[in-house]
Amino acid sequence: MAESIAPAAAQPGERARPERLRASADLAYPFEPPTPDGAVVEVAPGILWARVPMPMALDHINVYLLRDGEGWTVVDTGLNLPASREVWERIATQHLQGLPIHRLICTHSHYDHAGLAAWIMERFGAELLMSYGEYFMLRGFTAPPPDPLPPLQQSFYLRAGMDDAQIDHMFSGLRRDPFAPPVPQNYQRLRDGDRLTIGQREWQVVVGEGHSPEHVCLYNASERILLAGDQLLPRITSNVLVTPIEPEGNPLQLWLASLNRLNALAQDTLVLPSHQGVFRGLHARVQELHAHHQQQFALLERTLQDGGPATAWELMQVQFPKRRGPMDDLMAMGEAIAHLSWLRHQGRIRRWLDDDGRYRFQATPAAHPISETHP
Ligand SMILES: [Zn+2]
Repeated sequence: MAESIAPAAAQPGERARPERLRASADLAYPFEPPTPDGAVVEVAPGILWARVPMPMALDHINVYLLRDGEGWTVVDTGLNLPASREVWERIATQHLQGLPIHRLICTHSHYDHAGLAAWIMERFGAELLMSYGEYFMLRGFTAPPPDPLPPLQQSFYLRAGMDDAQIDHMFSGLRRDPFAPPVPQNYQRLRDGDRLTIGQREWQVVVGEGHSPEHVCLYNASERILLAGDQLLPRITSNVLVTPIEPEGNPLQLWLASLNRLNALAQDTLVLPSHQGVFRGLHARVQELHAHHQQQFALLERTLQDGGPATAWELMQVQFPKRRGPMDDLMAMGEAIAHLSWLRHQGRIRRWLDDDGRYRFQATPAAHPISETHP
């Protein structure tokens, strides 16, 4: 699960369709990307960038191979599909100089990042390194959603303003999810602040929150290289959503705070993201992402001020008018609620349960238009 729906206030397709993405003038892309067929590009001595294809609008994930003494440490996996395994076989045959993959680091639990974790462990004899939260997220999401949904899950979406048929439609699509991976049976825990030696380099674990609960980035301070996962993508924004598991959560606050932590890293850092191009311009990208969310907050607040009370489902149609299917609906619904939760925690809107059992949101009378620059 990643980052793929088109918000209304931004340029059309800013999230979704790579060919129509808006390029930032402040980012530099020093390398041509590798083709997603097992080719690699060396982005620093002993650090190889490869791509694993994905059969969706976001059509690839970047994986990285780090020379690690007499072997390799690899970062992220691709989806649990035969085509992904073929690419890994090709990479191993052509680019690893006959040396083994000792370690696999999964930045987080989403299927495109960890779907082949169990297979890579078994096929190459690698150990798995993840954060605690991500490992147990991966263990927890291996079955399709139950049918019927458990009552608290159903009521979460009813309260959001969906009806039973809309909820059924969304989950019937998700129940056909073909990517559910086998569970890796053990792991080694990574924690925020840990230092990892990989070959000649020392990397610091920097944990981000909001997109997933305990997302691992790795930063090498001496050469200023960041393995960023989905925490910092150059052209699309990562999905930040509220789910029925933590219905009162405020993940955007965590996400924006995590962006600020990354903003403390060096300006000329070479950012190795999980999707799209390797880039420089970390501070500019952090500013763009802050501005994007401020625009979304302003859009929702304006809609409520102009149109009166509304449900999350109604507001989601305004925020994400272009959706391509049930997974987009799920991400858009969760992300609209995430923006509403942030506004509510700021005191800018209020929420109540109406007579039909739906949460309605309303702009608070004292609210002033949100500044489009972040503090
Ligand atoms: Zn992700």
